[in-house]
Amino acid sequence: MFLNNNLLEIYHKYHEGRLAHAYLLETNNIPKLIDDLKELIKAINCPLDYQDNCRKCNLCNLITKNNLPSLIIIEPDGTSIKKTQIESLKISFETKPIYSKYNTYIIKNAEKLNGSSANAMLKFVEEPTDGIIGFFITDNKDVIIPTIKSRCQSLVIMYESDNLLDKLNITEEELTNYLIIIKEYLTKIDNNELFSNKELILSKLSERKEIETMFKIIFEIYYNYFLKGLNKNYNIELLSNYQMNVNNQKIIQKLNIISKFLQDLRYNVNIELLLDKFVIEMRSNYG
Ligand SMILES: [Zn+2]
Repeated sequence: MFLNNNLLEIYHKYHEGRLAHAYLLETNNIPKLIDDLKELIKAINCPLDYQDNCRKCNLCNLITKNNLPSLIIIEPDGTSIKKTQIESLKISFETKPIYSKYNTYIIKNAEKLNGSSANAMLKFVEEPTDGIIGFFITDNKDVIIPTIKSRCQSLVIMYESDNLLDKLNITEEELTNYLIIIKEYLTKIDNNELFSNKELILSKLSERKEIETMFKIIFEIYYNYFLKGLNKNYNIELLSNYQMNVNNQKIIQKLNIISKFLQDLRYNVNIELLLDKFVIEMRSNYG
């Protein structure tokens, strides 16, 4: 099959003439999903018999190069998606497409729509126009503005990956930076420096999302490196001076503490309280 199963489902709906006007897609790998979506959009719009990676037609080539005017991908501009970005999308889609059957928009990180941009967006999803399809992409459906969520058809599209960078949607360089902070952080916990460790994180990571990524990496390190003895792609040398002198049972307890932290982080619990609780629980697991 040339498409991910869930996307194939959308493709079948297209053939049945039952395509929704807007889809909310939750995924653990946004870049991969966008690549797959582009294949779906080719399959729907290709004037030839679309096959895996059609390179014959102009339209598919334009989609590959992100140059098709009737496919607009909107990404957060800084920390949020701005109202002006939505306004210009609307203007672009006032006219029918020239080459393709549909005008298609993709909102990458749809959880970054703020109050005013979400409002501007609502018209598209509330009063659907034939010939426009929208995909809202997020890695956390829980934080999508409810008025948007309720007007979209929801699908969850998960990818299996061994690659930490794919999984966390970060670059090699970003991972290295996280590992430097993590090493310092874990060492502080070991040395029982209870107060300075919270400051360390809050001074280096300004966004909740970054803190989440850091703790996901900590989870991976405990799971793959300390528990399984594996070195999975990441530059573990950074951690090589960091010694874990505890048994597997203790590591499993720590993994539970980390995953509880990640769970709590998804709800709007005060971050400083969470960080304090984390350190206290990790410390009580020593000895
Ligand atoms: Zn084609």
